[in-house]
Amino acid sequence: MAPRQEPSFRESVDLMFNRAAALMDLPPGLEEKIRVCNATYTVRFGVRLRGTIQTFTGYRSVHSEHMEPVKGGIRFSMGVNQDEVEALAALMTYKCSLVEAPFGGSKGGLRIDPRQYDEHELELITRRFAYELIKRDLINPSQNVPAPDMGTSEREMAWIADQYARMHTTDINSRACVTGKPLNAGGIAGRVEATGRGVQYAAQEFFRHQEDKARAGLQGTLDGKRVIVQGLGNVGYHAAKFLSELDGAKVTGIIEHDGALFNPAGLDVEAVRNWIVSHGGVTGFPDAAHTAKGTAVLEEECDILIPAAMEGVITLENAHRINAKLIIEAANGPITAGADDILREKGVVIIPDMYANAGGVTVSYFEWVKNLSHIRFGRMQRRDEESRHQLIVSELERLDQKMGDAWSLTPAFKEKYLRGAGELELVRSGLDDTMRIAYQAMREVWLSRDDVPDLRTAAYLVSIDRVAASYRAKGL
Ligand code: NAD
Repeated sequence: MAPRQEPSFRESVDLMFNRAAALMDLPPGLEEKIRVCNATYTVRFGVRLRGTIQTFTGYRSVHSEHMEPVKGGIRFSMGVNQDEVEALAALMTYKCSLVEAPFGGSKGGLRIDPRQYDEHELELITRRFAYELIKRDLINPSQNVPAPDMGTSEREMAWIADQYARMHTTDINSRACVTGKPLNAGGIAGRVEATGRGVQYAAQEFFRHQEDKARAGLQGTLDGKRVIVQGLGNVGYHAAKFLSELDGAKVTGIIEHDGALFNPAGLDVEAVRNWIVSHGGVTGFPDAAHTAKGTAVLEEECDILIPAAMEGVITLENAHRINAKLIIEAANGPITAGADDILREKGVVIIPDMYANAGGVTVSYFEWVKNLSHIRFGRMQRRDEESRHQLIVSELERLDQKMGDAWSLTPAFKEKYLRGAGELELVRSGLDDTMRIAYQAMREVWLSRDDVPDLRTAAYLVSIDRVAASYRAKGL
């Protein structure tokens, strides 16, 4: 028998889409319309650096405009190509639909290794790339709104926002042209850690449901569960930090670009992160065994595996050796379509990327709304809320005095109850609510239909159904 071929990333997404679409009753034309990528723009531009002109290649892909603006990150990586941005743009369509963020799907990328350039050079390159996209309305507050992704952060988003403002000096909404900005440049509290926080909320919601845990062969709470994380970048670091510090999970393995650390007693996530920042990788970190072949640690026994680096890391080649009960896809597309089949047959439960890493776009949505409304969340109501709470507390204290020592309010209760919600509290509340509701929509389909084998198919069913409804409402 000929060996099974691994599909490309975009083909993998299409295969997963097709598996769900086969269970739906969509008109054939509409099915095709939703699946295909509307447009991909390729740009090549030169920047004078170190005495010569260097040419860069970038992409911005628009998958579906059933809602506008379209939304999706910009990544800086040598792996960027048309197939990849189209796959990622399609995932953005389904992701936004699943978490009810009112956007179509888009994605961009620049083929560059950011580690090879200093900050000033990166600013020149980013601004030039942004200029090329802005002048074609591929960055625009009402049409196309990027965000950070692999290799980019709030620093690049601030440059993009400033570039847009320079080219649209009278646009009062210019800050809404990109999300994931620093707080002082129109960003929102809680955006940097939003994707990792969303992964934590996704895990918490999964562990609230007895039947779901049973399907993965898990029980109890997150406390003490063994977790292996691949990629300790923005998403992986925050997910690992929150799960270990706040839920008591034990991070036993961390896989990075230069190998992996493994310690069955648990790793100190903060210490590993600090080591990476100062040494450029995990090599040499004390207190853990280091393996140069990092991918081997993907196969170590654990309760939860969190791939949070890049796509295509669990494949036909290694899927049957994976030893996790639950996989939370923090990265986009870490499991190929063939590997997905193998893992399902093994009984591994997968919380799919379009849901698991949707925390980023959810908080980006809040940031975009904040930019358009020109006011910080909580600014109008916070003190009013506090004074109403103070009224109740004062009244309880008055009764308390009358009743003697029979009961009294603890200082901790008073402190918490009296504090009105600021932007960060509201962002966390909105994100938690979004992650819970989206999970429940998926699981209802997963558990109620015999023909739906996994959460990924359920997620596609929920989101394709909504995209289809939106196209139908437009008369398509
Ligand atoms: P990042 O650049 O901050 O981090 C990526 C990390 O992976 C880095 O620490 C890098 O050293 C590491 N890495 C690179 N090659 C590796 C390899 N071969 N093995 C192991 N680790 C390797 O990127 P990020 O923003 O955290 O994004 C990670 C993934 O999450 C991507 O798939 C991205 O599309 C997805 N994602 C990101 C966001 C976001 O808000 N940043 C939102 C949704 C999805």
